[in-house]
Amino acid sequence: MTIKPFTVTIIFLLVVYRPGYAQDQQQATWNHKQFAVALTYDDGLNVHLDKVIPVLDSLGFKATFYIPCNSPSLTNRLAEWKALADHGHELGNHSIFHPCAGKSKGRAWVRPAYDLDHYTLSQMIDEIRLANTFLRAIDGRTKRTFAYTCGDMAIGDSSFVDSLKNDFVAARGVTAGMNLANRTDLRDIRSYTVDGQSAEVLIALVDRAKKEHALLVFLFHGVGGEHPINIALKEHNKLMRYLKQNEPEAWIAPLADIAAYMSRFKQKSVEKQGFPGRE
Ligand SMILES: [Zn+2]
Repeated sequence: MTIKPFTVTIIFLLVVYRPGYAQDQQQATWNHKQFAVALTYDDGLNVHLDKVIPVLDSLGFKATFYIPCNSPSLTNRLAEWKALADHGHELGNHSIFHPCAGKSKGRAWVRPAYDLDHYTLSQMIDEIRLANTFLRAIDGRTKRTFAYTCGDMAIGDSSFVDSLKNDFVAARGVTAGMNLANRTDLRDIRSYTVDGQSAEVLIALVDRAKKEHALLVFLFHGVGGEHPINIALKEHNKLMRYLKQNEPEAWIAPLADIAAYMSRFKQKSVEKQGFPGRE
């Protein structure tokens, strides 16, 4: 069968100028890399200082640490947490007392005094803003991200998401999923909770983010212990080594830096297209 030049031209146009192609190309630019990865560690644990930081520093990775201000580790090792921020890691806001809705399933551990269901909306917002002041006193920074405690974004039916939109570059949620550059709600960034998976399972997510030109956010708690939600240190480090191998194509940075980039990217899209991108 012979293929006529006209047919070749049509095929070429369909492949190269297919709808969304230009958008795909825009999405492929993550600070000049193919995809982005944010490593986030919650709850201000000693293992973050003792086991995670040495690995990250040895590989040159910068991460985000969401620290409730009442973390015993922060109280006891304040200078070490400050040093971590001085070295380019992000101290993320995770409230002061880590309030969570106690009536939700599996929340028997929530102390009545810090049960979000007993909070008022202004109490929660005040607490989160005060945590920002506290963290600014440690690291001197005015721009950071927030992580919803237990992923809770409301007290009963009253959401506090919108009330915080001017206080943060972005906020990390707990819904699993990839984040595309111009289709992500920066008030609810998707993340993958790491809890007992093997490195292979997590590496598959890295490969998927690469394929989809997306931002992948890992949500760690314990690493080699100290928290019921945990990953073995060996598996964590295996994942880190894989990320290092992929660093030529992966932008690995604190979530505040990546979210600020996304915000600028969306703004540019709005200016270019003349209408707001999906939020
Ligand atoms: Zn937490």
